[in-house]
Amino acid sequence: ITVPDNPIIPFIMGDGIGFEITPEMIKVVNAAVEKVYGNSKKIYWLEVLAGDKAEENGLNRMPQETLDLLKQSIVSIKGPLGTPVGKGGKSLNAILRQSMDFYSAIRPVFYMGQPSPIPNPERVNVTVFRENSDDVYMAIEYMPKTEEVKKVKEFFINQMGVSEYALPEDVGITVKPMSEYKTKRHVRKAFRYALENGKKHIAVVGKGNIMKATEGAFINWAFEVAQEDEFKGKIITEGEPQEGQAKIYKVITDQMLMQLVLKPEYYDVIITQNLNGDYISDLASALVGGPGFVPSGNIGDGYALFESTHGTANDIAGKGIANPLSIILSGAMMLEYLGWKDASNVIYKAVKQVISEGKGTPDIANGFRKLGKQAVELSTQAFGDEIVKAIKNN
Ligand code: NAD
Repeated sequence: ITVPDNPIIPFIMGDGIGFEITPEMIKVVNAAVEKVYGNSKKIYWLEVLAGDKAEENGLNRMPQETLDLLKQSIVSIKGPLGTPVGKGGKSLNAILRQSMDFYSAIRPVFYMGQPSPIPNPERVNVTVFRENSDDVYMAIEYMPKTEEVKKVKEFFINQMGVSEYALPEDVGITVKPMSEYKTKRHVRKAFRYALENGKKHIAVVGKGNIMKATEGAFINWAFEVAQEDEFKGKIITEGEPQEGQAKIYKVITDQMLMQLVLKPEYYDVIITQNLNGDYISDLASALVGGPGFVPSGNIGDGYALFESTHGTANDIAGKGIANPLSIILSGAMMLEYLGWKDASNVIYKAVKQVISEGKGTPDIANGFRKLGKQAVELSTQAFGDEIVKAIKNN
């Protein structure tokens, strides 16, 4: 991608704690860009409305104007958006992902010194590539005891020879579509990422032994992509990966979940489907203290949207205690995607430094105290200020 020196980057403030954490991200990203590039590069932030802010302005929660603006930008970033309970309607995040065709959700999980529930958490450095446009999330569902499910059930029993044992009277059915095209475009993104970032071990994860037509096919398609001209000799299936190579392994989901806890150091990149990706990315995040400590990106062809991984945390919104790290690190990930790696590196370094001094929002400080360590409790804003200070002084 070609990136101008003065890009306009749209951002969505988000609901709940979004109002507190998103400004901290902007502050930190600006400081990093200024530190590294001085006046030669500068981001122009453009607020686009969604969620509560859009509603307050008399618009839909996900206005068409916002989608149109996002489509004009290579990258954008957002805070969490709430889906009001009981009002019906699709989640705003689902609308965004589907209308922009963000087909790969990427979650790099790495340790920065924060309180973690496992011994030697520095072993964790894994990037989860979750397919985002297929699988049970397509919401093709037939609720039990409806006319629809009756029709689907009769089709399977009468036309396809499925047994009544598998589809009893009170059955509900969810369809799990998985396609070659969607799988392969996702796998290519993950392979390119692994090769560009010197990652050596790629686990292709699914329960292909049980779901042969979907997760099994996904794994086979991933191995087919490894044979394409672009990846031949670079993505290998046997032997030790050398410089400029990465090796792919097939791993069954349950094994993966267990291994990730016991031996996280074995994995550099995980490629998986939508539902497995949901489980795996949260488990991986938990190894470094939870989703509040990891960034995420939604990548499509031509656009990418970075976002915090947690929700709107309504229970603590407005109190000035939310942990802004997930969106700050998503900002760093966005800079990396733009090719401004020096700027993202100064953010990672500053965050590590501030955490190493035991400083953080109450969730971080409490975590340190539980481990018997000293901690300095800071507000969301003061934590952001400390990170900016560390960037300036480094
Ligand atoms: P949540 O992540 O908002 O909160 C779960 C718990 O974690 C709460 O106790 C909260 O206080 C805490 N927490 C979350 N983020 C934190 C942070 N940055 N700092 C400190 N503590 C934090 O999950 P939920 O309560 O299930 O969801 C609330 C709303 O958020 C729902 O409307 C949901 O749809 C939405 N949501 C949005 C996204 C997104 O925009 N990507 C993701 C998940 C949930």
